[in-house]
Amino acid sequence: MILILLGPPGAGKGTQAKRLAEERGLVQLSTGDMLRAAAAAGSELGRKAKVTMERGDLVSDDIIIAMIGERMEQPDCRKGAILDGFPRSLAQAEALDAMLAATGRGVDRVVEIKVDDEALVTRIAGRLTCAKCGSGYHDTFRRTKVEGVCDSCGGREFTRRADDIEATVRARLKVYNTQTAPLLPYYRQRGKLATVDGMGPMAAVEADIRAAVDGGKG
Ligand code: AMP
Repeated sequence: MILILLGPPGAGKGTQAKRLAEERGLVQLSTGDMLRAAAAAGSELGRKAKVTMERGDLVSDDIIIAMIGERMEQPDCRKGAILDGFPRSLAQAEALDAMLAATGRGVDRVVEIKVDDEALVTRIAGRLTCAKCGSGYHDTFRRTKVEGVCDSCGGREFTRRADDIEATVRARLKVYNTQTAPLLPYYRQRGKLATVDGMGPMAAVEADIRAAVDGGKG
């Protein structure tokens, strides 16, 4: 089974893909994770991708298609995969269809996790982490009890992810709306698309995704 989770950054694709993959015994493939691993390893691809990622732009289709193509040929993908963060452009969707057709397969289901843009900016841009113990906080939703002091360890230094700053989040959302959103009609026309509301509690979103995967077209 080939499943695609589609949605803007911060919609919860990664978390939901992980849960579904564990439940169904499928492999979770996240192109974002693969690129971050390449960047951490310092490979040439990783170094180039890092700059693009920090701007909030998309890495080129050629690089992404080659990277995922190689990964999907591995034996652990034979049973199927949950794709999270790929495809992100029409060229990538077409390449995926061709890749799967070559082995007599196809995309089974595409689930769109729909979330309001402004809520995403608040959600992502407010995230911060204690530099000492890694506890996660949020400017609005999970503040420390004492201003500037970590509840868990008393640390006073906090970090934010490089691509979680508001300007980059807005750039990533713009890229999603212009380059990735055209995939919605692409999959709708092919009868593959289901849409779930990503604004509710995580467990409710998870139940809706499960129902969408198992039948209802949403
Ligand atoms: P993600 O973790 O999925 O939000 O991806 C983080 C960043 O990696 C994105 O903002 C892009 O710069 C890059 N990226 C991940 N997947 C793709 C893809 N399928 N096509 C192009 N760029 C990607």
